[in-house]
Amino acid sequence: MAESVASLLRGGPGETVSVLLPIPLARAYDYRVPAGMSVEEGQYVRVPLGARVVSGVVWGSGSGDVAANKIRPIGALLKLPPMKAELRGLIDWVAHYYLASPGAVLRMAMSVPTALEPPKPLKLYIDTGSRPQRVTPQRARVFAVLADGLPRLAADLSRMASVGPDVVRGLVHAGHLNIVAGTSFSEGSNPDPNHSIPTLSGFQRAAANELCSSVGAERFVVNLLDGVTGSGKTEVYFEAISATLKTGRQVLVLLPEIALSAQWLCRFESRFGVRPTTWHSELSTATRRESWRAVSFARAPLAVGTRSALFLPFAKLGLIVVDEEHDASYKQEDGVFYNARDVAVMRGRLAAIPVILASATPSLESHCNASAGRYRRLSLPTRHGQAKLPDVEAIDMRRQPPVRGRWLSPALDTAMRETVEGGEQVMLFLNRRGYAPLTLCRSCGFRLHCPNCTAWLVEHRLTRKMRCHHCGYVEKLAESCPECGLEGSLVACGPGVERLAEELARVMPKARLKVMTSDTVSSIRHAEMLVSDMLANRIDVLIGTQMITKGYHFPRLTLVGVVDADLGLSGGDLRASERSVQLLSQVSGRAGREERAGRVLLQSYMTEHPVIRALVEGDRDGFLAAELAARSAARMPPFVRLAAVIISSRIERLAADVAADLARAAPREGEIEVFGPAPAPIAQLRGRFRFRLLVKASRRHNLQAILRGWLGSVSWTRAAIVRVDIDPYSFM
Ligand code: ADP
Ligand code: ZN
Repeated sequence: MAESVASLLRGGPGETVSVLLPIPLARAYDYRVPAGMSVEEGQYVRVPLGARVVSGVVWGSGSGDVAANKIRPIGALLKLPPMKAELRGLIDWVAHYYLASPGAVLRMAMSVPTALEPPKPLKLYIDTGSRPQRVTPQRARVFAVLADGLPRLAADLSRMASVGPDVVRGLVHAGHLNIVAGTSFSEGSNPDPNHSIPTLSGFQRAAANELCSSVGAERFVVNLLDGVTGSGKTEVYFEAISATLKTGRQVLVLLPEIALSAQWLCRFESRFGVRPTTWHSELSTATRRESWRAVSFARAPLAVGTRSALFLPFAKLGLIVVDEEHDASYKQEDGVFYNARDVAVMRGRLAAIPVILASATPSLESHCNASAGRYRRLSLPTRHGQAKLPDVEAIDMRRQPPVRGRWLSPALDTAMRETVEGGEQVMLFLNRRGYAPLTLCRSCGFRLHCPNCTAWLVEHRLTRKMRCHHCGYVEKLAESCPECGLEGSLVACGPGVERLAEELARVMPKARLKVMTSDTVSSIRHAEMLVSDMLANRIDVLIGTQMITKGYHFPRLTLVGVVDADLGLSGGDLRASERSVQLLSQVSGRAGREERAGRVLLQSYMTEHPVIRALVEGDRDGFLAAELAARSAARMPPFVRLAAVIISSRIERLAADVAADLARAAPREGEIEVFGPAPAPIAQLRGRFRFRLLVKASRRHNLQAILRGWLGSVSWTRAAIVRVDIDPYSFM
């Protein structure tokens, strides 16, 4: 890979070059440079493939192993800046490291095919300033969206304002909106590094100076910004962003979830004066196309997005920030399996630029890298200003159980009442969507389960549906038991957030409740509305799943109640303890972020568990040390390397046979251990039967080479799929 990055190919007419296509093929294909054309590495080209014409990227010189008369000519060059060596190197690295086909990885970098074409003039809408006599709430929302003066596409406008296209058309018709032609709607809105500079505290200043000097050095270094919740990590890395923007280079910021970007964008805007370019799956194709081009032509100084933003073709990237670096959403587990945090570090290395990983609860991997001196740790040990870290208490549910039919203990009840009566806000966290995680028949004991997965169906009472959270299967709420047919015999077992909301509405009828989960909040706009309702004190109790745990800053929020702190601890997952500490620290970190002191109550049936104790005692480092010792003793990551091999098929026998064949051919070298095959904990998923093998190797081994050799030595029919998950997070 190093050679391909360094080598400079200039292919003249008649020469053969290899072109990588965004298709999951095993390798790049050879093409001839036709008369009158000259190409260089990284150029986007159109080439024939069978009867089709497809776009691809010139990857290097031809392989030379194709007969000259079989080689077809390149059709056309696309007018785009060539893909830089740094991104091509990254694609090769991801393909190699995660055992994916390079074409499948390239597809993530070329995910908007229309972005390759020259722009057609777009119809954009702007506000004329004139107002109708009657401004309906819908129309008011449209004007509010356009208030920043930026022209917008009809589709974006109606989505952002949550109105139908007819509302927009009506406003045009009545002369309140104008249509203008444009090719880009983000021009002329460059962030201003000096728009609003905060006064940093001593610790913040020290960390910011270090970050800014690493920006100045223009070389690869990973900074682990390790600061308690509310310490001002965002403000601090904004300084590094500011320093990078001043040098004219671009910045990439990764956030774990779209919902989180609402508040982030506002903060960016108050610091730098404009909204940056965004990138995530919810954007319209037209907007993504524009973002892709803006990044590629260096018109976008900063792009913020979810993990897929990692593969954007930046023209002159100068800094990468990964916020909440420990977050499991950075791990992609379909298509190409990869960890965006780790790929971000590799991109920084290939581009020779600094990387910032920010977290209040760094992953064990990053923590180890910092302790070993591979990463530079910058600590922010205290909250900003007068704010103190919240007081965390465990409620022992064995001693103070809730009354029958309820899920909240008297202690949490009282604390909630006092908080709401005092005019402050409460956040109740339960990581379970829906009404109840399990529905069973009181008469015959039958449990409603998904027909496609080894999983219970979850009741969603608000929408009157039963849902599978693994495959998306939906059916009507059942009235009678599907097994014994008895009517009214089905009972809901255990609480989900909807059931909590029902309980609260009963015991605190005056409190204003809102539920925030991926079911109730489906767009950024929606999340923004909830956030502004919280900020304007229109909500007393916010109930939610992990969606509410991250990043948010609500000054009046002083009490966080964790309904089931034990939930993540069962199940024997390698990272169960680590993840619980991260998640619960994160949600606890929402309490008392300004002058009002915060309090966290953890409901638990195992208050002596090291995770609960670490949270109560605020002893994160003690926990990390103990967890590392345990991982080392058990020979587990980050001390060894793991890979999972998942075999699936619609035919159970076949999956089992392929798994057995693989197990028989497993490498038997010294320190390599292969466990399994065993039926996966979710033995059936989306109708496919699944078996797992787990490979453990010491860090000295070339795990990828071993896996390639092994998987290459066994063959199986297309009715079985074998996937490799390097550095797995999920063991389901
Ligand atoms: P973290 O990301 O570490 O949880 P934030 O960056 O969200 O912390 O900061 C917490 C709050 O404190 C935010 O409202 C932020 O604007 C504010 N804040 C932090 N540092 C400063 C500062 N130096 N000046 C003004 N406000 C600050
Ligand atoms: Zn299912």
